[in-house]
Amino acid sequence: MSLYKEEQREICREKANYMCQICAKNGKFNRGNQCAHMIPQKDWIIKKYGSKIIHHHSNLEYVCSTKCNSKAMIPEYEYEDKVEQIKRRINDE
Ligand SMILES: [Zn+2]
Repeated sequence: MSLYKEEQREICREKANYMCQICAKNGKFNRGNQCAHMIPQKDWIIKKYGSKIIHHHSNLEYVCSTKCNSKAMIPEYEYEDKVEQIKRRINDE
């Protein structure tokens, strides 16, 4: 795994306080164990938006299971807005 991806995952874990963000939305407290991509990391998506965007911590949520992982995904019609948000974050960093 690239250093960039590992750094972004670490930020994702720290932001979440190591807790599952999906369970937290439902008032449950479970320790997370994986970073989920809101815009999924599919080949065509990475080709279209770039890996820096897709693996940025703003596109990641820390989750506890594959079930919560799939719930972190956003619908395709929200991709463009999310990408614009992430670009602005990258410019501010
Ligand atoms: Zn969970």
